[in-house]
Amino acid sequence: MNHWRLTTEGKVTTSDNKLIVPKRDIYNVLCEAHSAIAHRGRNKTERYIRQSYAGISHEIISLFVSLCKLHQQQKSVTNHWKKPITNPIRANQFLAHVQVDLIDFHNLPCECQSRHIWALHIVDHFSKYSWLFALKRKQTEEVAVTLANLFWLFGFPSILHSDNGKEFKSKTMSELCRKHKIKQVHGAPRTPSTQGLVERNNRTVKENILNILKERDESLRKWCAVLGEAAYKKNITLHRAINKVPYEVVFGVLPRKEMPEGTEDHTDLQPKKKKMHPPWL
Ligand SMILES: [Zn+2]
Ligand SMILES: [Zn+2]
Repeated sequence: MNHWRLTTEGKVTTSDNKLIVPKRDIYNVLCEAHSAIAHRGRNKTERYIRQSYAGISHEIISLFVSLCKLHQQQKSVTNHWKKPITNPIRANQFLAHVQVDLIDFHNLPCECQSRHIWALHIVDHFSKYSWLFALKRKQTEEVAVTLANLFWLFGFPSILHSDNGKEFKSKTMSELCRKHKIKQVHGAPRTPSTQGLVERNNRTVKENILNILKERDESLRKWCAVLGEAAYKKNITLHRAINKVPYEVVFGVLPRKEMPEGTEDHTDLQPKKKKMHPPWL
């Protein structure tokens, strides 16, 4: 037995607070949701929709994703990566084990004045929450300052894991770690499987960046402007290794969700039909 409620904003929700999507709004919700997670697959799109909305069937979601051109392009590239995740790094709490890595953008320098050529990717292993920052050089100072700023905002990790790159082994880095009692781990225990995890995470980030820019028909050289968005979209998407949404693991709540723009208010008597027309469909 469903108990529906009418909110003060005139939305209809289920008893567990999911927005009931009227038929005329389904298309808009699908567009918004699939885009919100940067065109990840069917299952992730469905999971994302189920968190906040009710009344959209599995079949409709599958059909929608299968018709997305942008998604089809990506699929051929990523299919072979869907191997089971073996021996992921286990961490028992947020910030117990943080991995830092550099993603090389030398073949795609950004257009902005800073001419960024690196993205610093930081992942918390417990939540799989990601942070991304554009770097001009990967010089030791820039890496250490960026990490210090992040840690002041979110907290300091117990273990900071990186490869053997010199920017992670600098004096500034050791100083930062010593001061805040962070155990620095280089290389080991990066086994082929953990290496795979880092690569997978980096790949997801790259795909998100690509999808965000392609969706807007923007130059790929604008990548540094969408790093925050790419990380956010990864963080609100179900992560396979933990079967959870990183954002929810870290903050204990899901990101706020509304009916997408262009949908009608349920109490609005003046119909103002406006359908989304995403260029990628
Ligand atoms: Zn898509
Ligand atoms: Zn830039």
